[in-house]
Amino acid sequence: ECYSIAIDGPASSGKSTIAKEVSKILNMEYIDTGAMYRALTWKVLENNLDPKDKKLVLKLLETTNIDFKDGNIYLDGKVINDEIRLNYVSQSVSYIAIIPEVRQKMVELQQNMARCKNIVMDGRDIGTVVLTNAKYKFFLTATIEERALRRYKELNQNGDKEINLKVLEEDIRKRDKIDSNREADPLKQAEDAILIDTTEKSIKEVVDAIVLCVKG
Ligand code: C5P
Repeated sequence: ECYSIAIDGPASSGKSTIAKEVSKILNMEYIDTGAMYRALTWKVLENNLDPKDKKLVLKLLETTNIDFKDGNIYLDGKVINDEIRLNYVSQSVSYIAIIPEVRQKMVELQQNMARCKNIVMDGRDIGTVVLTNAKYKFFLTATIEERALRRYKELNQNGDKEINLKVLEEDIRKRDKIDSNREADPLKQAEDAILIDTTEKSIKEVVDAIVLCVKG
């Protein structure tokens, strides 16, 4: 019998770091659904298309192949782990993720990836839409200041020099607002999800709490 763990929450709340770690400890597969929306966004921007131009985005989607293998995200057969983390991708991704037809395709892909596997999946709508039957659901939050600081450190590590904490905070605020207010599959805590405020917690503390909950 296979089971899944859904981890949702706003931008930079620690989802992917935590989810990856939990999947390792519990020997489960891990899928970062945000990476899938980011991959399409990167392709849209590479093609000099406007992310808000729904028609053109959907046309591009028809000939786009997104896949996960061994923790790598593949776009049309090429690994693009680093490209999708760039700040200009983060700034546009919510406009791509707002398009219902894009979501429909991504959700279908995600559900297929989770079939008959023990899987940890993180995103915005995993507990509410993608894996409504997940055995465990968590919703991670943290204050906007803490989340901006985490993004700042992450981007600094990646050598992205053109960043400013206040601007990042605004970017995150804007992204959360679009993600929470969109009509299709908005960012929302599932009724049966456990809320974890990670503001004052270390990665290990959150991981331990989740593992304890799963292992009992
Ligand atoms: O998790 P991450 O910050 O990489 O996600 C990037 C963006 O992708 C989110 O801000 C959101 O617009 C979109 N997304 C989504 N649904 C998901 C995962 C991500 O709409 N399940």
